Amino acid sequence: MSEQAVKRVIIIGAGQAGGEAALRLRQAGFGGDVTLVGEEPAPPYQRPPLSKKYLSGELSMDRLLLRPAGVYAEENVAFLAPLRAVWIDRANRRVRLEGGRELGYDALVLATGARARKLTLVGADLAGAHLLRTAADVDAIRPRFVAGARLVVIGAGYIGLEVAAVARQTGLDVTVLEAAPRPLARVTSPEVAGFFLDEHTSKGVRFALGAQPAIIKGKEHVTGVGLADGSEIPADLVIAGIGVAPETTLAQHCGLKVENGIVTDAQCLTSDPSIFAIGDCAARPMAHYRNRVARLESVHNAVEGAKIVAAALTGQSHAVEAPWFWSDQYDLKLQIAGLFQGYTQVVLRGTLKERSFAAFYYNGERLIAVDAVNRPGEYLGAKMLIQNGRTLAPEVLADASRPMKELVAQAQ
Ligand code: FAD
Ligand code: NAP
Repeated sequence: MSEQAVKRVIIIGAGQAGGEAALRLRQAGFGGDVTLVGEEPAPPYQRPPLSKKYLSGELSMDRLLLRPAGVYAEENVAFLAPLRAVWIDRANRRVRLEGGRELGYDALVLATGARARKLTLVGADLAGAHLLRTAADVDAIRPRFVAGARLVVIGAGYIGLEVAAVARQTGLDVTVLEAAPRPLARVTSPEVAGFFLDEHTSKGVRFALGAQPAIIKGKEHVTGVGLADGSEIPADLVIAGIGVAPETTLAQHCGLKVENGIVTDAQCLTSDPSIFAIGDCAARPMAHYRNRVARLESVHNAVEGAKIVAAALTGQSHAVEAPWFWSDQYDLKLQIAGLFQGYTQVVLRGTLKERSFAAFYYNGERLIAVDAVNRPGEYLGAKMLIQNGRTLAPEVLADASRPMKELVAQAQ
């Protein structure tokens, strides 16, 4: 697709990726029509605070917005919401919206994100049983998220543990049920997961690992969660964070290549050269990981996709950044750079006991990722190494007597 031929861009999905793409197109100098279609009522907002300061009530909705609501009109972005795109006609390059209106495009950006996996248990539709993906989900949770309430969290991923932390700080009684034998199984190593398990336990969170929730009990409102072993945990509130599935319905219906997400090349182009896909819904080759195709679920990945598309549509180049993530739980700031999957060795710098350490992941001799807890220097240093394809021997990084900066400077 030649960028000169692109006069009309439609972006479907007004989340982190879609909102960023609309505004970054303008920043990059794109002068054509930009239409942003979103099914949620609010302008694009950040999801991370939903399981942190928005849940605790410290942040209001207007503080979640990516940019003030008026910016889209100021930037001449047509923001259509709440409105769902329901059909893509690739042959004629048209998108149909609910209600029947159709819009033509020269380039289409799919930024449809992911949907929270639903519990399939009997009772999952009772009042008091919730998922947590949108601001509306949190607004529904908050009235019962009060001191003394009994909360059962299902799933010990990031959502589960972040919710548990805010709940304990708010004074709820918290039990976490996790199907796997340890928390954070998808996102970190047993060493780091064990640290977070101990932290939560010390704050009074009860865990049932290897648990199999079988039923949510109650008449109109939740009263407890029954497990497959016959035991029951009383509950006033149940919040499930059991992972997400990429939203690929439109892409599948119009015949784009979809595996675990909409498959794209490094430029975020799908199997149709007029259609890009970015953010949680898309899987692309990871430049820093020998072009392994991965679907990431993170703010950085959503923003990176938006930057790649804006550069591609304005004929500019963009140097891709290595992936990074974070999680806040209690006073712990976990910062992650790189992708740890496929690691063969993990080395610690600092100690778990001090609650300030970095876990470096190696594949053979190559540093591939870091999990840093309250160690911003180690996070930044490792991120720089991964970004530049450099490495340091495990025993060198483990030597906490030498400043990280000094070590990074000598890296090969
Ligand atoms: P989304 O934000 O899901 O946006 C997609 C949008 O598209 C949605 O509004 C959806 O309704 C809309 N849509 C879908 N289909 C259509 C359609 N057909 N028509 C119109 N609109 C449509 N990441 C981090 O890096 N750090 C964190 O600390 C962190 N915390 C998180 C906490 C929570 C509670 C959650 C839920 C996520 C968190 N994430 C975090 C992940 C991060 O928020 C996501 O990776 C990011 O929001 C992905 O952006 P996206 O635009 O791809 O998808
Ligand atoms: P997740 O990381 O996939 O964790 C879900 C956990 O729930 C997994 O350990 C899973 O185990 C477990 N599980 C699945 N089904 C279960 C069941 N029936 N009973 C008990 N446990 C079950 O996903 P998440 O925590 O729900 O997060 C959702 C999305 O939000 C992700 O995109 C995530 O990246 C994002 N998010 C990110 C952050 C952050 O980056 N700080 C914070 C919050 C949310 P199995 O793996 O064995 O199925």
